Amino acid sequence: MATIFSKIIAGDIPCYKIAENDKFFAFLDINPLAKGHTLVVPKQEIDYFFDLSNEDLAAMQIFAKRVATAVKGAIPCKKVGQAVLGLQVPHAHIHLIPIKKESDMIFSNPKLKLTDAEFCEIAKEISSVFK
Ligand code: 5GP
Repeated sequence: MATIFSKIIAGDIPCYKIAENDKFFAFLDINPLAKGHTLVVPKQEIDYFFDLSNEDLAAMQIFAKRVATAVKGAIPCKKVGQAVLGLQVPHAHIHLIPIKKESDMIFSNPKLKLTDAEFCEIAKEISSVFK
C-alpha cells in the first residue's frame, strides 16, 4: 500500500508544494513547528532514511540544501535546522525547520495552527525563491 507521502507525491492527496525534481519532492509539514517547516521526501518509497543508497542519500541532501536555502531566503530565521525522525510516517524524509534558538527543534513542542491562506502564502514565498 502506498504511503501517505507517495499519495501526496502522486497528487492524490493535496499538499503545499515547494519544489520537486525527478527523484525528490518538498512540501510544507501540515503540523509545523515553525512557519516554513518543510519535508523533503524521495519519490522512491523507502521507510528508513539510512537504507537509501549512498548515491540517493547524497543527492537527497543536495536537493534539501537547495530547499533549505529557499526556506532561509523566505522565512526570517537564524538558521534552518535539519532533522530525520521517521517515527510517524514510514517513508524517509528530512525535516527542514527555520530556527532562532535550540528549543525551536524540539518535536514535542506544540505545533502551529495555520490557515489554508497562510500555508499557501508560505509555500508561494519559499517556492518563488527556490533555485
Ligand atoms: P516523523 O515521521 O518524522 O516522525 O513525522 C512525520 C511528519 O509528517 C510530521 O511532522 C507530520 O506533521 C507530517 N505529516 C504527516 N502526515 C502528513 C500529511 O498528510 N501532509 C503533510 N503535509 N505532512 C504530514
